[in-house]
Amino acid sequence: MEDRKRDSNKEKLRSMALILNRADALVIGAGAGLSASAGFTYDGPRFTDNFSEFIERYGMTDMYSAGFYPFKTPEEKWAYWSRHIYVNRYDMEAGRAYKDLFQLVNDRNYFVITTNVDHQFQLAGFDDDRIFATQGDYGLFQCKRACHKRLYENENQVREMVKHQKNCRIPSSLVPKCPVCGGEMEVNLRADGFFVEDESWHRAARRYEAFLNENMEKSIVFLELGVGMNTPGIIKYPFWKMTKGMSRAFYICINRGEAWAPGEIEDRSICVDGDIGELLNQLLLYESRL
Ligand SMILES: [Zn+2]
Repeated sequence: MEDRKRDSNKEKLRSMALILNRADALVIGAGAGLSASAGFTYDGPRFTDNFSEFIERYGMTDMYSAGFYPFKTPEEKWAYWSRHIYVNRYDMEAGRAYKDLFQLVNDRNYFVITTNVDHQFQLAGFDDDRIFATQGDYGLFQCKRACHKRLYENENQVREMVKHQKNCRIPSSLVPKCPVCGGEMEVNLRADGFFVEDESWHRAARRYEAFLNENMEKSIVFLELGVGMNTPGIIKYPFWKMTKGMSRAFYICINRGEAWAPGEIEDRSICVDGDIGELLNQLLLYESRL
């Protein structure tokens, strides 16, 4: 069974390499599965090594659910969150899956849309002007009540909070405050109706639209990587719809466990089930032989 799956994946990867090679335009849609496959999991040693005192105090089990923990004071909240941001945004390099992907598309006409907030595409070398990160970025703060639509880079603040925390608390003087209303700050992640979309977010949205409009008549490939069913309305469903609507479009889906396409676009789809990082690495090899 495993052998047969490997052989059929080989066939699919070969076809994929050909299709990518002939494409005029490439739209990459990336979800949490890509970062997980690049090694940035929210549980296991990455969690237990970095959060032992939080695990002991709050009974946390992983960084995903810990992100929803109802901390009683801002000092406790920011002790956790500064470390969460530090681990997932500043104390890391580009993962191999992202680097391989960059090598694969670097000299092509590409655009990235992603729900990931970890800045990995930029770290791997992708052009910031060709990335639309729809759900925010760990590296940015906003006013919690969105009293004004500006985002603030948080690296220095985060490093200070990580450095000066003790017993799962930061000093009160380090609690981030909105420079306009004086209220609480929040990480720029889409979690409620107060998510701030600033001018650069809107610019990225317009560039994405423009890229689709420019290339809709051409041979365009939608490459979907690790997009699950949490927010399928941002990448997955639009990719299916556009593949159906654009006569020369092709849909590629690489995912572990959830690689499939609807019947209507089946003849213009390739779906591969497996580890995204491994598959991208193999794809790179096939591509280099063309
Ligand atoms: Zn404010």
